[in-house]
Amino acid sequence: MSSRLVGARRTDLMRESVIRDMTRLAIAHGAINLSQGYPDFPPPPVIVEAAKAAIDGGENQYTNPWGYPPLLERLAERYRAELGWEVDAGRHVTVTCGVTEGLASAMLAIVEPGDEVIVLEPAHDNYWPSVRMADAVPVAVALRRPDHRLPIEDIAAAITPRTKAILLNTPHNPTGRVFDDGEIAALADLVVAHDLALVTDEIYDRITFDGLVHRSPGRLDALRDRTITLSGLGKTFSVTGWRLGYMIAPDRFADAVHRIHDFVTICAPTPLQAAACAAMDLPESYYEGLRADYAERRAVLVELLRGLGFEVAPPEGAYYALADFRALPAAAGHRDATSFARWMTTDVGVAVVAGDAAYSIPGLGVDQVRFAFCKKLETLHAAAERMRAALG
Ligand code: PMP
Repeated sequence: MSSRLVGARRTDLMRESVIRDMTRLAIAHGAINLSQGYPDFPPPPVIVEAAKAAIDGGENQYTNPWGYPPLLERLAERYRAELGWEVDAGRHVTVTCGVTEGLASAMLAIVEPGDEVIVLEPAHDNYWPSVRMADAVPVAVALRRPDHRLPIEDIAAAITPRTKAILLNTPHNPTGRVFDDGEIAALADLVVAHDLALVTDEIYDRITFDGLVHRSPGRLDALRDRTITLSGLGKTFSVTGWRLGYMIAPDRFADAVHRIHDFVTICAPTPLQAAACAAMDLPESYYEGLRADYAERRAVLVELLRGLGFEVAPPEGAYYALADFRALPAAAGHRDATSFARWMTTDVGVAVVAGDAAYSIPGLGVDQVRFAFCKKLETLHAAAERMRAALG
């Protein structure tokens, strides 16, 4: 007899995160983990101390569901300057449990079952499930190699009467693109012409290279009241395990976003939000140091990969390098990126992510792997030693 007591059908449309699976494989094989994007160095001591002080000081209960009030104030101030509109701490800002919750909450708040959401691929592997969780339909549009520029014509062609929103990540994981003003302006034209919402994931907003500066797309007049801006503290302050993100939602979405967040999580962890205030009070020199350190790590990795025969473009932002492995002699024994990535992990001892994990479109990314360089220089040098020994 058939039973209705099985997992909901929407879960059949999701697959387990390939990235977190690679981390498990890395641990099992003692591999250096360049697969998952979390730092192996500590956060700034001042924020660790602030977290301890918050716990000792009694900040241990639920806080305001939208966020710990002093943090809301800081975020509102920052985004009034970034977006150029009167972001109100109590109305437009929501502190979430990571950008992951922000993405899921944004989808649950703005799409109806059956609506379509355009996802640019390669994409972070949370995008597809967040759309599915809202019973909406993700529609993939590929960023074309080698430049990965925003494919405006392809996006236009993918828009249908059911399209509700476009998900945009900039600086972009895994290509490293920081989409330029011209690309964003062209996207804004499309968004307005088709009366869409834009959801931007700006989690790498502070990690850019070569003098590039990230600017939030939502600052454009045309996008102001139709953009939900997401970002977080995990990458900028090396606290991915603290699970702190936030959303800035304009009036028309503000109540919907608050309601979903409230009933999904009540609030993000109170003492860590208190510590986040100390993070946000760090001076500009902190961000300069962050960029300089990441630029050094980027240089080490890109030089290593090129020396070994990978084809790789230095990322403009974020902390990943997407590398084509076809020219390597070692590639010959591997039919696809999964096979190559698993071999790198189990035999070379350096864990990476298969490029096709970031695509739903069949056949794309099968000749690429992603390296995360949010690691100590000594970790990158140790990985280099293993790779030169096995691949050099
Ligand atoms: N978006 C992107 C583009 C990411 O790379 C990541 C983490 N790798 C996330 C979202 C998840 O962010 P969080 O840890 O804040 O949930």
